[in-house]
Amino acid sequence: MQYSIVIPIYNEEKNLPELYRRISAVMDRIDGNVELILINDGSRDRSVHILREFHQQDSRICYLSLARNFGHQIAVTAGLNFARGNVIVVLDGDLQDPPELIPDLIEKWRQGYQVVYAQRTKRHQESWLKRSFAFVYYRILRHLADVDIPIDTGDFCLMDRCVVDVLNKMPETNRYIRGLRAWVGFRQTAIKFERKARFAGEIKYTFGQSLALAINGLVSFSKVPLRLSTYVGLFAACVALLMACLVLYWRIFYPDSPLTGLATIMMVIFFLGAVQLVSIGILGEYIGRIYEEIKGRPLYTLSEVRGFGDRN
Ligand code: UDP
Ligand code: MG
Repeated sequence: MQYSIVIPIYNEEKNLPELYRRISAVMDRIDGNVELILINDGSRDRSVHILREFHQQDSRICYLSLARNFGHQIAVTAGLNFARGNVIVVLDGDLQDPPELIPDLIEKWRQGYQVVYAQRTKRHQESWLKRSFAFVYYRILRHLADVDIPIDTGDFCLMDRCVVDVLNKMPETNRYIRGLRAWVGFRQTAIKFERKARFAGEIKYTFGQSLALAINGLVSFSKVPLRLSTYVGLFAACVALLMACLVLYWRIFYPDSPLTGLATIMMVIFFLGAVQLVSIGILGEYIGRIYEEIKGRPLYTLSEVRGFGDRN
């Protein structure tokens, strides 16, 4: 097996026929063996029936069904676990990531790169809010993260077997694949592309899930939020000291000043209260993570695996 193409599928029945049409055209063009791994992430529509049909029609197609919806990152992880290729390509199932770009990714791999990630130059038909959120977020992440996570990249990428082997060994439960991929290292390069609108169907990520993924990326790859509480705390201590001096000064030189009273105290109380709440929130984020990792649960449970020979 030379190439594996990994695609997570969650309620994409409307996209699947077109996806198959376009991806099989690309697979025909690639020289070498290609397997297409479709991961059904607990879809509630007809997706799994369509996958079954695909597998019966085309022996290059295999699929697995997670026993419930585990989320995009875990679905991709499952696909990476099962991929047998020397080269693994990951893309979305809604045709926002054009399959026609795969030969270009492979070309870069031939030039000796182990990771080729697709970088968005434009986003079509995504709300103004989401675009600006993404723009600001990726730039903040790049500044704060311990590893160099390239801006405007998603999970659409090509990875060499050696990179996927490392990813597969990582026990992390809170997986931010685009970050882990950067963490792994090796020779990495970008290919620019315009992110198209969804072919059909609704976006599967709710705003809450996108936000959770974004926070996950920050907290998993940066200790700055944890230190932030220390910085804010130090700043608050300075302000408090300054205020104490001020109050003392007023007491000695302007004993009649009305400002020394209730207002000052209230301000200090509110300020310190806010600082403490923020700090506790950040600590909670990390403690929650320790808890998650310590539980050591498997990342997913499988209900069906087809097309993997003796591993079925
Ligand atoms: N997806 C998934 N599980 C989920 C949510 C999404 O497998 O819980 C898949 C979905 O089918 C699609 C990809 O992940 O192939 C990206 O999802 P979507 O297009 O909704 O999000 P986007 O990345 O475009 O914001
Ligand atoms: Mg999409």
